[in-house]
Amino acid sequence: MRESFLHGRTALVTGSTSGIGLAIAKALAAAGARVAINGLGTDEQIAAAIAEVDAAGGARPDSVRHFGADLREHAEIEAMMSGLAEWSNGGIDILVNNAGIQHAVPLHEMPVHKWNDIIAVNLSSAFHTMRIAMPAMACRGYGRVINIASVHGLVASKDKAPYVASKFGVVGLSKVAALEYAALGNRDSGGVTVNCICPGWVETPLIEPQIEARMQGGSREDGVRALLAEKQPSLRMTLPDEIATLAVFLCRREAHNITGTAIPVDGGWTAQ
Ligand code: NAD
Repeated sequence: MRESFLHGRTALVTGSTSGIGLAIAKALAAAGARVAINGLGTDEQIAAAIAEVDAAGGARPDSVRHFGADLREHAEIEAMMSGLAEWSNGGIDILVNNAGIQHAVPLHEMPVHKWNDIIAVNLSSAFHTMRIAMPAMACRGYGRVINIASVHGLVASKDKAPYVASKFGVVGLSKVAALEYAALGNRDSGGVTVNCICPGWVETPLIEPQIEARMQGGSREDGVRALLAEKQPSLRMTLPDEIATLAVFLCRREAHNITGTAIPVDGGWTAQ
């Protein structure tokens, strides 16, 4: 039986036209939330994402909408948040900052525009959505901010200067917000919490270039095996649905005292 504990709640999941964000949007819809999706893609890709989230939520009327903000532009983020305040009757209850981009080359070869874009999408967009969305959460005594950081918010790898800097930044930003909002609401309302999920390797389009770089004339499976062997002791990929299950758990009232955390889902990567 479907458990709709998020009925009456509205969520925004950034970067939810693909990968982890799409899985989280579907899981939140399945738990009863209205879901605003965001992300780039062709009209067909966006329509397909809307249809998937709608189906996961049981095709309730006006329960999924796409907001097309390019998260590199803070004016577009502000316009999206205004639209969302109207759609959600005063402000969203759940904010998942998931959109992220990557470019892996040594520091001295990193194009300046890549630095700017990665910091804008992976870090600054979370600052903007949080500063706009969190006051309404405070008024309601319930709010959930879930920032999809990375193991690279906890440890570094070479060739990922802007990515690692952005993810450490998201972990720090989340801890500050967690402290500022910790005392709001109560056990019954569920409180206002801010947490990071820090995945290791997750099977999504984001890491395809890194798999391809390790195929060395072999199969994709060889590339995946080589990638896992470098860092992830479980030697298993995480699936997007598995990250989504954790995100939905963090939205529960019972998770009111889980705040300021950075939770690794990394097969032991950061235990080493
Ligand atoms: P993905 O490439 O499948 O999806 C990224 C999403 O971000 C897409 O919907 C894309 O349209 C959106 N996006 C990119 N640039 C945007 C922009 N300028 N404006 C609006 N949306 C934009 O990637 P994914 O693997 O699902 O990654 C999701 C998050 O998880 C990212 O923050 C990533 O850093 C993090 N992460 C992924 C892995 C992994 O192994 N896949 C590991 C750790 C952390």
